[in-house]
Amino acid sequence: MRIYPNKEQSELMSRHFGSTRFVWNYFLAERKQSYLESKKSLSYYDNAQTLVALKKTDEFGWLKDVNSQSLQASVKDLDTAYGRFFKKQAMFPKFKKKGLCIDSFRCPQNAKIVNNKLQIPKFNPIKIKIHREIKGKILFVTISKTQTDKYFAAITCEVEYKPLPKSDKAIGIDLGIKSFAVCSDGIVFENIKTTKKYVKKLTYEQRQLSKKKKGSNNRSKQRKQTALVHEKIRNVRVDNIHKFTKQIVKDNSIIVIENLNVKGMVKNHNLAKAIADASWYETTRQFKYKSDWNDRNLVKIDRFFPSSKTCNVCNFINQNLTLEDREWTCLNCGTIHDRDLNASKNILKQGLKTLSGCGTQSELKQKHGEASVSNQSLRPMMPRQLAAG
Ligand SMILES: [Zn+2]
Repeated sequence: MRIYPNKEQSELMSRHFGSTRFVWNYFLAERKQSYLESKKSLSYYDNAQTLVALKKTDEFGWLKDVNSQSLQASVKDLDTAYGRFFKKQAMFPKFKKKGLCIDSFRCPQNAKIVNNKLQIPKFNPIKIKIHREIKGKILFVTISKTQTDKYFAAITCEVEYKPLPKSDKAIGIDLGIKSFAVCSDGIVFENIKTTKKYVKKLTYEQRQLSKKKKGSNNRSKQRKQTALVHEKIRNVRVDNIHKFTKQIVKDNSIIVIENLNVKGMVKNHNLAKAIADASWYETTRQFKYKSDWNDRNLVKIDRFFPSSKTCNVCNFINQNLTLEDREWTCLNCGTIHDRDLNASKNILKQGLKTLSGCGTQSELKQKHGEASVSNQSLRPMMPRQLAAG
């Protein structure tokens, strides 16, 4: 939810952003050094103790000006990042550079909404725009500032969630570039047109940015301008994806999608393609948690499975299919296929096969050590993000 800190509050926020970033960087450096010098890995508790000692020194006494729990949360985040790295779930943690990462800090305790204002430790009540009722107990609040100088509070609550009614339907989804998604039941979700307009604008703004002198005032103004367009595209896009995933999860109990190559995405320089990749990533993320919440089965199939080339009627594989072929006729059974619809039907078939345990080793992705089926058990209470901004 958007918050509107006054001048004094935004200055205190800046100090929180800076201090939590400092803590992250300080302990990342310390952990690296300790490992280099003595092969000793420092734990969260080592870091937390050092933090207490640091605050007592003259040099780092300014750390006392900010909420101590936010600093501890930063140490905890670093520890989690290390944990994820060792479990091979994430890259090695990086230093946070000012201006290059999103400014944020977390208040893990004592956050409240009173009289339509947000109360967090060390701050006077902050003006907040509540656009959705806050249900349940507030677990923690993350304050962030966008590159366009907007402030947000993401409030995470513990709520009793009532899953959607059961469904007996299964669906396969082909996420594409031409259409946003084509489903095995024939429903097509188109890309939103507005994105195209903004992509044009973004290309223009980026070109302007590259012309501005480094370090100049004009450049920082232009950077903000570019960030605004980025933000607009993201908001429209994420909103649209929510509509899509909501409907799919409501109507189906088994949802099959292709496993995407996230690593390959980062290297993308084509803007339209990059946005499509980001959309796929977001779609997968939403499907994952919405399936968990609503007791749905999300099945991811190997993206090397030839979903476009295989005839969904007779399993004949059309080796001559090119990327340009939007329609093709099966040489074996004569069926005329729409490329994407046929793919989505194959994705569904393959997903059901995987679910029933008939898939091959490769299809079950055991060689990648990845789970194919999402967690089906539903905990009665779970944290729910209300607004990430
Ligand atoms: Zn056929």
